[in-house]
Amino acid sequence: MVRGRKSTGEDRSDRLSEYESKRNFEKTPEPGPRQRRSRTGRRFVIQKHRASQLHYDLRLEVNGVLKSWAVPKGPSLNPKDKRLAMAVEDHPLDYAGFEGVIPEGEYGGGTVMLWDQGTYIPDDDTGDVAKGVEKGELKFSLNGKKLKGSWVLVRTRGRQWLLIKHKDAYASDESVTETQARSVLSDRTLAEIASDEGGDVAKAATGDPVEAAPPRRTPKVSRTAKRRSSTASPSRSRKASSGARQRGGGRHAPGRS
Ligand code: MN
Repeated sequence: MVRGRKSTGEDRSDRLSEYESKRNFEKTPEPGPRQRRSRTGRRFVIQKHRASQLHYDLRLEVNGVLKSWAVPKGPSLNPKDKRLAMAVEDHPLDYAGFEGVIPEGEYGGGTVMLWDQGTYIPDDDTGDVAKGVEKGELKFSLNGKKLKGSWVLVRTRGRQWLLIKHKDAYASDESVTETQARSVLSDRTLAEIASDEGGDVAKAATGDPVEAAPPRRTPKVSRTAKRRSSTASPSRSRKASSGARQRGGGRHAPGRS
């Protein structure tokens, strides 16, 4: 029987019981709990997860488990953005290295990419991260490959939190989930991970941004000529849509499939 409410007095196995009860380790390649602490004790990862909905799982190591939040739109480097972050069950530390395919029909079925990893430091002087989680406000600095600088997670109600970038040297309006869409572990896209590991490639691909179109081979002069005669051209609609894609109109909207 899984206890839904958490209390500070629970030991590690209690805190991971929800994680274990949701998964059949005969069927999923996800790890069961083994490791008890990382070298630094302050590991962080973000896993991009194309499950029923695309989301990014932010995980911070706190007292031997990974506290976890599912962020539908992913992190934003822009301090004006408040990204919804739903608290989900604690995950074992072993999960921090996981990238692969969870079989369809299993809990969280779909492709998982290790999108960023590194360490974090609580900004609070006391360093008491568990207390911050309890209180519903956690300020921390990330030292990842993609994400750096200071962030805050603040609880609004229930399991709903907001993830917000603080203003600092790493704040920017770069759309980091689009510009740095590949795995920090393997440099693969979601579709490539699915393809390598027997997953649903078409589903996974909907979580990848459309790659920049290859350079046109057609010389410019002939483009002009084609445009002049395009009213009668049967290839007009095809050209129009490829033009839209080059302007960014073909980008996949995250979480919309
Ligand atoms: Mn997930």
